[in-house]
Amino acid sequence: MKLQVGLIGIQPGYKIILEQVGIPYTIIPFEQEISKTEYPVLIIDYLLPEYDWKKIVDYVREGGTLLINSDSYNKIFQEEIKFKKVKYLISQKNSIYSEIGLVDIYRKISYPKSDTVEPVDINLYIFAKRLEHGKIFVLPFSVNELLVDWGSKRKKFYAKRKELPSEIVATVSKNKIREIVRVSLEHLFHSQNLPFISKWYYPNGNEKAFLFRVDTDFCSQNDAEEFYEICKNHGINSTWFVDTESKERLKNFYSKLSAEIALHCKEHKIFKDYEKNYNNIKSGIADLQDAGIETKGFAAPFGEWNPALAKVLEDFGFEYSSEFTIDYDNFPFYPYYKNKFSRVLQIPIHPVSLGRLRRSHFKQEEMLNYYKWVLQKKNSKFEPVIFYHHPHHRNFSVFDKLFNHVSASDFWNPTFHEFSEWWGKRNQISLDPKYKDGKIFINKDYCDYIKISTDQKKYKILKAKPEIDIDKLVLNKKSLDDYPPDIAKIRDFTWRDLLYNFETWRAKKKR
Ligand SMILES: [Zn+2]
Repeated sequence: MKLQVGLIGIQPGYKIILEQVGIPYTIIPFEQEISKTEYPVLIIDYLLPEYDWKKIVDYVREGGTLLINSDSYNKIFQEEIKFKKVKYLISQKNSIYSEIGLVDIYRKISYPKSDTVEPVDINLYIFAKRLEHGKIFVLPFSVNELLVDWGSKRKKFYAKRKELPSEIVATVSKNKIREIVRVSLEHLFHSQNLPFISKWYYPNGNEKAFLFRVDTDFCSQNDAEEFYEICKNHGINSTWFVDTESKERLKNFYSKLSAEIALHCKEHKIFKDYEKNYNNIKSGIADLQDAGIETKGFAAPFGEWNPALAKVLEDFGFEYSSEFTIDYDNFPFYPYYKNKFSRVLQIPIHPVSLGRLRRSHFKQEEMLNYYKWVLQKKNSKFEPVIFYHHPHHRNFSVFDKLFNHVSASDFWNPTFHEFSEWWGKRNQISLDPKYKDGKIFINKDYCDYIKISTDQKKYKILKAKPEIDIDKLVLNKKSLDDYPPDIAKIRDFTWRDLLYNFETWRAKKKR
């Protein structure tokens, strides 16, 4: 039995998620037969009209499992579906999705309305259907459509206080869609008494990662020096995304730092057209080169992303970029646009900077507590913690204390380039696990770490070896981490959202 997922047709959104989570998958050729021993779980999001869907029904009847969206479900089973326009959904407290919390969708969803299905999570509109020996999970949205969306809007972020910080970020919470898919797939493997196996996220079995980004944004050299010293004193590796305003500062200061230097901007602007982005970035790269700095990375002003920018970044051969209007709080991925995947790795960060906390009247102690809370939440999900700061916003003591906290724990702390290099390598190596009589067999050329789970609350992270006896594993227990009971407050309307949108508009006009 192969422990992999079968995809029918090209599914960019699912490809992104399967690679983020590290789940082995194969794209099934159109004509191929589908067997349960080859693909214990199948994913369908869009079905070509000419596709022979009867073989899918047979596959499920014989014990296969299927993750499908309601549109394709309807095409195959001809059952009534209902439509509903939603802004967001909040997962049910005691369902298998209980950790997920609030999911921003902002579009029409649909779900089967029939007594042949039962809810898995009534709040998320996820339903299950049993068909003889097999099982089907029906999602209310198209994962492929949601994952390639690049719309953005102002969103508030949760904190244990009344006035909440906000930022203009990706409209769809792609990180939550990823979690819904992961939990669904894990469940479908476990429901067949199969272990769920994925590539581990980090090298050497590290369970926590911390990255720190500095956007210089025309700050004074004093501020930059002072902040650099704080990073250095705590042994924190940082990546500096610099403006190229002062050639002298690039040459005499930034080029001498023992930190990674990447490009933020020449002009602090992102344009909608290729030509203008090209010229702006070209002259930024030239400024860096004059100062002897070779750069592999880019982070756009205001976290803006658009296809014209993406093309420019590809044409200049950037290795990675980081823009929270395409995604935030997530694992890296290659964005899909104009019917292909970008070659530039996107590294999403936590988008709430100290400047945004200050604008929402956080005191220093609250800022520190906010970051510690986000850090703890991300650690419990093994997500990388990636924060950023503008030295001209000062408040250095907040980071002094935060870095104390980080260096006291066991974090892998790469620069952005090191992280992107690792992620690229992780994507390249194929993991091809098989299962027989309680034993897992791993292909010999995969030597990194893997995660094995046998149910939602039991897992083990270990170095891959050719043969693993599940009974002999000492599994870790995971308790599910509930979302705050008042989570819905982050989507309540507040007049400040309008004020902040105006301020952003004005800031974009000014420079
Ligand atoms: Zn900036």
